[in-house]
Amino acid sequence: MNATGTVNKLVGHPDSYYAASANPAPVYPQLEGTVEADVCVIGAGYTGLSSALHLAERGYKVVVLEAERVGWGASGRNGGHVGVGQRRGQEDLEKMLGLDTAKQLWDMSVEAVHLVEDLINKHSIQCDLKRGIMHLAAKRSHNAHLQEEVELLRDRYGYEQMRYADEDEARTLVGSERYFGAQVDSGSLHLHPLNFALGLAGAAAAAGVDFYEHSRVTKYRGGSPCLVETANGQVKAKNIVLACNGYLGNLEPRMAGKIMPINNFVLATEPLSESLAKELIANDYALQDTLFVIDYWKLSGDNRLIFGGGENYTSRFPQDIRNFVRKYMLRVYPQLADTRIEFGWGGTLAITLNRMPHLGRLEPNVYYSQGYSGHGVPTATFAGKLIAEVVAGTEERFDILAQIPTPSFPGGTLLRWPGLVAGMLYYSLKDKLGG
Ligand SMILES: Cc1cc2nc3c(=O)[nH]c(=O)nc-3n(C[C@H](O)[C@H](O)[C@H](O)COP(=O)(O)OP(=O)(O)OC[C@H]3O[C@@H](n4cnc5c(N)ncnc54)[C@H](O)[C@@H]3O)c2cc1C
Repeated sequence: MNATGTVNKLVGHPDSYYAASANPAPVYPQLEGTVEADVCVIGAGYTGLSSALHLAERGYKVVVLEAERVGWGASGRNGGHVGVGQRRGQEDLEKMLGLDTAKQLWDMSVEAVHLVEDLINKHSIQCDLKRGIMHLAAKRSHNAHLQEEVELLRDRYGYEQMRYADEDEARTLVGSERYFGAQVDSGSLHLHPLNFALGLAGAAAAAGVDFYEHSRVTKYRGGSPCLVETANGQVKAKNIVLACNGYLGNLEPRMAGKIMPINNFVLATEPLSESLAKELIANDYALQDTLFVIDYWKLSGDNRLIFGGGENYTSRFPQDIRNFVRKYMLRVYPQLADTRIEFGWGGTLAITLNRMPHLGRLEPNVYYSQGYSGHGVPTATFAGKLIAEVVAGTEERFDILAQIPTPSFPGGTLLRWPGLVAGMLYYSLKDKLGG
């Protein structure tokens, strides 16, 4: 089904800076009646959109069902950092999985960042793409690890695009007294996440993918064919891709116990003067600190500070998100005390216990990928490409990730929260303590 042709960039998205600065996008119809497809993708974030695009490019007839709007989930709300590496550090991965697998995972992570850049260039996606991420030592004791990691990545993985900056240099790059050193990584990227998602959807639609919005899947069954149901329609498909991540809910209990949905919050200031923007981030990189509950920030295309900080583990967002996040921002930049905060929003992401993505097959023709643990801009986009590979019969790369064991959260879907909340509170307390 083609778009109805109406251009509507705001309705149905949360009130975020990203929605307010979104590129024009079509409104897609609701699913009604029965349609048939080679692949039915459930969820239109990066996982679903990239799967759909790569499958359509391989000649498959693809239908995407989205409960809300394209890019409505975490993919339209995140910090926009596109970092190399997995969410878990290489040293940990070597211990967990051995050097060979750790190297494959590193190479895939670099490929994932290149994939994002290539897609943006190939499909002329306007999404404020900029180069560079810095990791800032929030405690003096974190410096040694940052430095050693730069050396490890250079010496064992051949990654030359990251260097270490000492405290003096870090403070010239970031207008804040808070940090003790930095990794300066010119191989990573940052972007406007919703416009990246809308651009992927546009490319997929141009490749023949049929989108349906406001079409929540209420249940599905595998088999031959698979049957996917919404309130007013159904899709008969040869394959299914589950791409719901933090918004999965109860749709598939076999996946739900492997992830924990958590909420994270972001603000956008008013546009800053050129000189203030330069004072805050001299090189226009995206920044993130080394705390367990990280602060992350960057400048938007129109020089606003986009700052993410703070999370919660309930089903509700704080009532006043702007002020909730502002206190984290002022810890870093007290000089912004009089700067107006124009937007505040939250989103839900999915984490796994080992912080590695969880992907695989539930049945021979039912695929899923989720649980990117805050690293999904490159990883979900790349997972979509791997899903297209495996549907087409090439399993090797998909299986490298699928074979990493994903432990279930203790307590299953009902009781996983108390354990997580206790764990998160413990680590956020450690963030607050010195050392
Ligand atoms: C505030 C925040 C900041 C973040 N910052 C970063 C960052 O800087 N860098 C980074 O790499 N990662 C970041 N992340 C994580 C990243 O955004 C996610 O990992 C990534 O967007 C996941 O993409 P996805 O397609 O798997 O899921 P989503 O984008 O969440 O999409 C899932 C979609 O599935 C739909 N859906 C759910 N159930 C159904 C159903 N039953 N029927 C139909 N549709 C359904 C939802 O409506 C939703 O649109 C952040 C996340 C948040 C929330």
